[in-house]
Amino acid sequence: MEHQTPTVFGSPQVSSPRSHTRDLLRYLTALAGHEPRGGLFEVRYRAFARGGSDLEDQRARMRRSWHPASAPIGAARAILELAERTDVYIGLAPRRHRHGGKSAIKRIWTLWADLDTPESTGQVSTLPVAPGIVVQSGSAGHRHLYWPLSAPLGIAEAELANRTLTLALGADGGAVVNAATILRPPSTLNHKSTPPAPVMLVTLDRRRHPVEEILTGLPAPAPPALTPRPPPDLVDRSGDPLQVIKPEHYIEVLTGREVPRSRKISCPLHHERTPSFHVYPTPEQGWTCFGCPRGPNGKPLGGDIYTLAEKLWRTEDFLELTRRLYDTFLPASPRRGAQPAAAAAAGSARSHRPRQRPPFP
Ligand SMILES: [Zn+2]
Repeated sequence: MEHQTPTVFGSPQVSSPRSHTRDLLRYLTALAGHEPRGGLFEVRYRAFARGGSDLEDQRARMRRSWHPASAPIGAARAILELAERTDVYIGLAPRRHRHGGKSAIKRIWTLWADLDTPESTGQVSTLPVAPGIVVQSGSAGHRHLYWPLSAPLGIAEAELANRTLTLALGADGGAVVNAATILRPPSTLNHKSTPPAPVMLVTLDRRRHPVEEILTGLPAPAPPALTPRPPPDLVDRSGDPLQVIKPEHYIEVLTGREVPRSRKISCPLHHERTPSFHVYPTPEQGWTCFGCPRGPNGKPLGGDIYTLAEKLWRTEDFLELTRRLYDTFLPASPRRGAQPAAAAAAGSARSHRPRQRPPFP
């Protein structure tokens, strides 16, 4: 199972139950940083419901538990117990309340990247600061790298820093740069393979570094820029701030359903056992349900934040729809709904925007 990897990574040490617990505690302590009281670890795990007939559906069902970030032993115990029978993940940024999205995050105490190719692995030695934590994720060749920070970052800064590291590594830039990302903690098992593959701590160096040091000399990725600081999740490209909210975010808020890594959820618009509602990475791609009745043009039902809210709230009054979306997602902003001209402009921009839909993944 072990791949050829640079010696900079070393190899996981022969493990015992005691070293498992110690590794996990050290890892959790790094993630928690100096988070003020009240911070929470979000532990997410795959639940295997009994009695149902659709195995796929059961596999997709995720559950969560919450543990104080100030006392990692509680989270560690829960993780070790769950890991014996299922896949376990942890929110890398401490949450301030019981919610898995970015709205629950105030501070981020580590940067991270997902290393998935030998080429990326080769790039690690070129970085100004070596990752303090390396976790072998249990998928062949995959390693998660972490850089503990001496001062916490906000969501936008942390995501930009993650993107910068990802770009420098030529690594996977997908959902993993997201501030609300969950990854597998060490001392657990990756149950995707048979027998389950261990998720192991390869390196742990407690030293924390300032973000400026970690990113020294690394080329910045394409905007968003660091300053002025955009609201979390938002980079205004189209002139309509609602249209730049990521689908996984607005879909979680509007439907109350967690978007898993598979990006498939049970459709909120019709009853189904096997998820056929696809959540794409970009606002331009939006969402598509392959289970809903098709439209008159024969295409699967899909769209953007407006079309989903329209269906869920059963309103065709565009001003009303816009006002409610602003209240929900942008409560501090001036309301488009109160300004008919602006709202109409947003509406026409929407209807003229060419839409691209990726094929069924
Ligand atoms: Zn549907």
